Amino acid sequence: MASSKAFKAIYEKVFGNPNDKTLQRLRARVGGINVLEDQFAKLSDEALKGKTAEFKARLEKGETLDDLLPEAFATVREVAKRLMNMRHYDVQLIGGMAIHSGKIAEMRTGEGKTLVATLPTYLNALAGKGVHVITVNDYLARRDAVWMGMVYEFLGLSVGIIQGQRVSYRFDSTAKVEETDSEETTVDLGSFKVEYDNLRPISRKEAYECDITYGTNNEFGFDYLRDNMVQEVSQMVMRPGEEMHFCIIDEIDSILIDEARTPLIISAPAEEAGDQYYQFARLATQLTENEDYNVDEKLRSATLTDGGIGKFEQALGVDNIYVSGGVRTVHHIEQALKAEVLFKRDKDYVVEGDEVVIIDEFTGRKMPGRRYSQGLHQAIEAKEGVAIKRESRTLATITFQNLFRMYDKLGGMTGTAATEEEEFRKIYSLEVIVIPTNKPDARLDHPDRIYRTDEAKFKAIGQEIVARREKGQPVLIGTISVEKNEELSSYLQAQGIAHEVLNAKNHEREGEIIAQAGRPGAVTLATNIAGRGVDIKLGGVPLDKTVEQQVLDAGGLFVLGSERHESRRIDNQLRGRSARQGDSGETQFFVSTDDDLMRIFAGDRLKAVMTRLNIPDDMPIEQRTITKMLENAQTKVEGHNFDIRKHLLQYDDVLNKQRTVIYTRRRSILELSDESGELAGSEGEEQEQDAEDMSFSSLKDMVLDMIEKEIEFVVSYHTTSTTDDTLEVNWNMKEIVETMKTIFPFAASEITALESITPEGDTKLAEVEARDKVVTFLLDKAATEYTKIEEKVLAGFATPEEGVRAMRGLEKSIMLRAIDALWVEYLVEIRGLRRSIGLRGYGQRDPLIEYKKESFHMFNTLLANIQKEVVYSFYKVGVGIQLAPTVMASDKMTLQGAKKTNSAQGKLIEKKTRDAGGKKIGRNDVVQITDGTQTKSLKYKKALSLIESGWKLVG
Ligand code: ADP
Ligand code: MG
Repeated sequence: MASSKAFKAIYEKVFGNPNDKTLQRLRARVGGINVLEDQFAKLSDEALKGKTAEFKARLEKGETLDDLLPEAFATVREVAKRLMNMRHYDVQLIGGMAIHSGKIAEMRTGEGKTLVATLPTYLNALAGKGVHVITVNDYLARRDAVWMGMVYEFLGLSVGIIQGQRVSYRFDSTAKVEETDSEETTVDLGSFKVEYDNLRPISRKEAYECDITYGTNNEFGFDYLRDNMVQEVSQMVMRPGEEMHFCIIDEIDSILIDEARTPLIISAPAEEAGDQYYQFARLATQLTENEDYNVDEKLRSATLTDGGIGKFEQALGVDNIYVSGGVRTVHHIEQALKAEVLFKRDKDYVVEGDEVVIIDEFTGRKMPGRRYSQGLHQAIEAKEGVAIKRESRTLATITFQNLFRMYDKLGGMTGTAATEEEEFRKIYSLEVIVIPTNKPDARLDHPDRIYRTDEAKFKAIGQEIVARREKGQPVLIGTISVEKNEELSSYLQAQGIAHEVLNAKNHEREGEIIAQAGRPGAVTLATNIAGRGVDIKLGGVPLDKTVEQQVLDAGGLFVLGSERHESRRIDNQLRGRSARQGDSGETQFFVSTDDDLMRIFAGDRLKAVMTRLNIPDDMPIEQRTITKMLENAQTKVEGHNFDIRKHLLQYDDVLNKQRTVIYTRRRSILELSDESGELAGSEGEEQEQDAEDMSFSSLKDMVLDMIEKEIEFVVSYHTTSTTDDTLEVNWNMKEIVETMKTIFPFAASEITALESITPEGDTKLAEVEARDKVVTFLLDKAATEYTKIEEKVLAGFATPEEGVRAMRGLEKSIMLRAIDALWVEYLVEIRGLRRSIGLRGYGQRDPLIEYKKESFHMFNTLLANIQKEVVYSFYKVGVGIQLAPTVMASDKMTLQGAKKTNSAQGKLIEKKTRDAGGKKIGRNDVVQITDGTQTKSLKYKKALSLIESGWKLVG
């Protein structure tokens, strides 16, 4: 650690800071864009529009995207100037170049990343393979697509938007929501209503056919998984072969780091519930710490001691729980213990009715629908005495790491990436470039104030708020959890300090509260990064220049952190709310030795020192060394969390390779059965292990190949000498016949003929020759039987074409059914393996290596079983039998990881349909809106998209 730091310092001394060097290089290219400005400004709209066709033609002729970059960027800048009155700043051009080159542009909140993204998006869309722009929620996908949509539309590029519940739109500036009696158009996106002018509903497939597609990481991920569960090529929505071309991820740290801990899962409900959960939960409450179990808070683990296990054995009336219950029982007991001692209600989760809802540790938001894995959720349900949800069957799953690594090119932007630079580089090969702000940064970050106790800290926070409020500064207070949020809220209430609360429990009003958090004297108490992507505008809404100036003069937004978060990134995200775009603003953290982070790392020592020095409670210490120490602690926790994610990924990589093999195989079946037979680019995805699959020219070949392999396997299994050097022949025709009879029927004469084949002599060569004869005999037999089935099928149809199609359909469904059913079972098994690997002791051996070995073996068994299943059922199914749909066709699928809380922003828009006095505004009422520099009078329905992009209602 220290040595690598030292190395870095020396390296930078000699070669310069790599960030500065990259910046220098990018800055040098800005001139090339700027010189085009005057020239492009003179172009007519038509000439400017013509640029897209010109660029595309030049690409065809062999120029590269990099060759086109200066002109393409200059074009976009000119269009944005004409249509939106926004001119890309030079630093925004630099950000755009960084993203284009597959890097992360770290740009502060409010620097205009939405506008930055138009540059690489346009440039890369010229290649015609689609660009995906990924946002943290559905609302932001819609907002950004509508906001920037006019630029792309002007330039002749189409923009699609994918939303939850498979709703999709295309941006179309001429589209109008049809007038109906009801004032608003209701679209079933959960429970909220939004305006949909400029958005024309289209199919999912059409959304992917657009040049640019906006959507959340969840939606792209689920579409990918679902595309690999379909029964027909025509049901796939992403562009075959080009589904993962280029993507730009907004708020990239939130998506690739915070959300990366929960994989996407598509599951179908299954049976099995358990009284055991309740029993274990009850027993867990009777255990004593250190006697029956040990807790490691840092690792978030709880382990039973021998004593604890003894208590369980006694209560359950068994001698040895490992023998009688197996690893599964032990696992469930440990989960019950974990649920009891490590997971706290209202901090880690809330109970709503009959539901245990997880609270996202980073955003403080509720995540309805998401469940802790491996039985932990059930254990918590048992602890809380609510109904236990049944375990579901996983149909498909992928981690975000593996999803996004599939893209040919990946770029992104966020206000906070630098602290996680190592993870981005190692896991995603993404370099972080810190882009300077457009205007000089005027933010004042005060040193932390450290108090001896929580009470003293709260008191100081209260006093600080009052003082700031009196100055006319808006105050935003960040808390690290819902629990802390409520604690502080009741303290402030008791002190008579009025404030708005923004936590997971009332997220419906989130957007509205954030929008008003910049009013003079506003006091807002929020869980740390609630409302990412939504601006706090100084002066509040509606915008008023004088009020804004007042706030600026008072010092701008004061961000008060009430505790340090585990991760510096989250703290920085909070600070970043203040002092946007060169505004004034201040931040400060108030810390106590009772804080979690302090307690875990040295809080006790510090407390003792403060007590010994007789420091009064209300006197904080503002010591750089202590802040430094806290930051070191954060670095340690961050490193630990990175290790957890890396570890998860190492295990997931194994499954990822296997999933690719299965999906590639599945896809080639679909493609072969697709009559048009044309699917561009499928070779691009070929997998080494699976290359041969792709060479089949028909489904028939594929089935015949499986039959051949199965026959060869059975024959060689029963006819091969155990070792190469002994000629002691293992020649068991009886077994071969018996096995083969279970595949297809044999006449007595055939059996005699088969059994008469034996090696002529005692040599290896004789053995090989005889075996070949057996195989040839059986292959002939298989072909004859195949033809019989084919004839029967064909006889059932009026035309041979229909018959052939039915035959291919039969082959396809048999193969899909085998793959799907066994793959889903495999996913359960592999999860079991993960679990048991974690529980088993491996002595000196590396559990990951053991896991790889075992799963490799299991996967080979899976492939063998698929082959067997296909061969056996093909000859069994015969003619006219209706096949049950594959498990993938389940109509009761659940998408986990899907639930993003959109209702907050949805409500904001709905709320805006009332004016300040609460009077409802009709869609056709004329309203005045302003962007701060100009004012417009428009019908309300027309004004909405501008309001979404930051314009404010006047009066
Ligand atoms: P970020 O995502 O970086 O936090 P946004 O994209 O939400 O920032 O933009 C913040 C504000 O900055 C918006 O109101 C936008 O209109 C404004 N803005 C961004 N770039 C420019 C520009 N070049 N000229 C004028 N306004 C801009
Ligand atoms: Mg943004």
